[in-house]
Amino acid sequence: MKNYDLVVRGGRVTGPGGVRLADVAVTGGKIADVLPAGSTVSGTEEIDAAGRHVLPGLIDSHVHFRTPGLTEKEDWAHASRAAVAGGVTTVFDMPNTRPATFTPADARAKDAEIRGTSLVDYRFHAGVNPEAVESLETFEPAEALTAKAFLTGHHTAPHVLRDPARLDELFAVAKRQGLRLLFHAEDDDVFKLLDQWQGAPETYRDYERFRPRSGGIVAVAKLIELARRHGTAAHVLHVSSREEADLLTAAGAAGLPVTWEATGHHLSFTAADTARCGSRIRLSPAIREQVDQDRLWDAVFRGEVSTVGSDHAPHAFADKTVAAPDAPPGLPGVQELFPALYTGLRRRAPDATPDELLPIVTRVLAAEPARLFGVADRKGAIAPGLDADLVLFDPAENWSFGPGDVQAKCGWTAYAGWMFTGRVARTIRRGRTVFRLEHGFGTPDGEWLKPSTVPVPAGDTR
Ligand SMILES: [Zn+2]
Repeated sequence: MKNYDLVVRGGRVTGPGGVRLADVAVTGGKIADVLPAGSTVSGTEEIDAAGRHVLPGLIDSHVHFRTPGLTEKEDWAHASRAAVAGGVTTVFDMPNTRPATFTPADARAKDAEIRGTSLVDYRFHAGVNPEAVESLETFEPAEALTAKAFLTGHHTAPHVLRDPARLDELFAVAKRQGLRLLFHAEDDDVFKLLDQWQGAPETYRDYERFRPRSGGIVAVAKLIELARRHGTAAHVLHVSSREEADLLTAAGAAGLPVTWEATGHHLSFTAADTARCGSRIRLSPAIREQVDQDRLWDAVFRGEVSTVGSDHAPHAFADKTVAAPDAPPGLPGVQELFPALYTGLRRRAPDATPDELLPIVTRVLAAEPARLFGVADRKGAIAPGLDADLVLFDPAENWSFGPGDVQAKCGWTAYAGWMFTGRVARTIRRGRTVFRLEHGFGTPDGEWLKPSTVPVPAGDTR
């Protein structure tokens, strides 16, 4: 009888294509075999997954773990605990730290600071330096295959690419380098004009008017044209309005190399929640109306959106609770991402079964981020040869998310008092348990992934 390091037995193994009852055999941190349930193989460690769904370790392709330089807001030890408690085993961290991740040396220094503190594996999105977009040419594919640019700024995003000629140059550089560009796509000129005309809001309820959808729509239209002209792959982050969703979906369907992300918070809150949540859900881009949220959910069900990110961006509660409009945008969300997404799917499709809904989760939180961002040779699916990153999930459990559950260093959540449907029971990363409900956390030996990936092909849309 064949013996493996670990066998996860009898779970409902889930991927974008569907669900099957299977045993997952693991050796050396890799998936060795996926066998029909009831197999005769044995494992040095055996985990009974009967009654649970087994998902690939989830990938959050949009986090701000605040390392280096902003660790009073969040640090990697806390953030990675939050991640694995929510079933996330791989993160892509954003570059707007202090210093920003503008060069390979910045990325290596960041890795050196993280190493030994992380429960999750990680990659970095390189930062676009508005003063020197050509510095992206110094990154090797192993160091970065993606680069993020901010088209408008805020408290923790001071490096804004405002010059149209530089933006054009960025698309050309990225095309040559085979980099996929990621954007905070709101038009700074639109906001400058509005600030000049209407001034700052006095309450957070007026925040949507202060940073309206017009900023996003203008920026997205410009980016689609640049992607068309240069053939450069562009991924628009945290799409907030139905108009942007319509534009990006149409452009992608027409064969342009554009893809987009929705966030857990835009899927979970609307402007009406501002009355109750105040500055906790002051976000950039702003939380919008019910019709916008409905459009984002349609995109999730129809497969129009490629990735769902948490945009985990914590701030100390004291910083967040200042008078309008000065609270910094952002909230913690990596721990809440999967439960909020699954709870929302259930709410919108109450008659659907977990076997029908969880494949959607594995598409936007595993398969697609792995493929778009260059880690599909190690992550994103339950298949022989890939890293043994597994999430054991109980889709039937209803539980209330309280302050005592929050792992983020800031200690607060915008989801306080939410009833979530579905709970992560156990998270396994490269064959080792890194989180187990009521047992705590594993060893923080997550690593900087250096995959052997090919550059993004031109015209690759989804
Ligand atoms: Zn972000």
